[in-house]
Amino acid sequence: MKKEVVINRWIEATKEMLKVDPDWNKETLEGLLSQVSKEKVSVPKKIEHIGIAVKSIDEVLPFYVESLKLELKGIEEVPTQKVRVAFLTIGEAKLELLEPISEESPIAQFIEKKGEGIHHVALAVDNINERLNELKNNGVRLIHDSPVPGAAGALVAFLHPKSASGVLYEFCEKK
Ligand code: ZN
Repeated sequence: MKKEVVINRWIEATKEMLKVDPDWNKETLEGLLSQVSKEKVSVPKKIEHIGIAVKSIDEVLPFYVESLKLELKGIEEVPTQKVRVAFLTIGEAKLELLEPISEESPIAQFIEKKGEGIHHVALAVDNINERLNELKNNGVRLIHDSPVPGAAGALVAFLHPKSASGVLYEFCEKK
């Protein structure tokens, strides 16, 4: 049995015990609960990348490489999002330039509505499936209920911006 499953069951059992007798060693139990809840799911590790919608990677690359002096890590197509993607390294994080390769690409629709600019913030996570389930259970709206293949062999899923005060967040799990 996985550690998370055991911990979750333990939390539920402890909550039941508190319902039956709220005074039963309440402080100890609540202390343990808050401790174990923190460990239940690991927090996002870092900002993996910031996604920026552009009409043409070729047109904007000189600004990033020659003016900002960022290192181009690679360019690839991501069929699930119908985009061409360029990654630029900056410390531990990256900038992800997103160019639509089809009219139906979410990036094409974004540029049409809002113009070029910051599109999303991607957080590096472990156990993306468990993270998504937990968000769902907490009533957070998701664009992807389960992860889809992203760039560089990562598994990714987007949260709904309606649940994040207008910010589009991506969870990103590297293999
Ligand atoms: Zn991204």
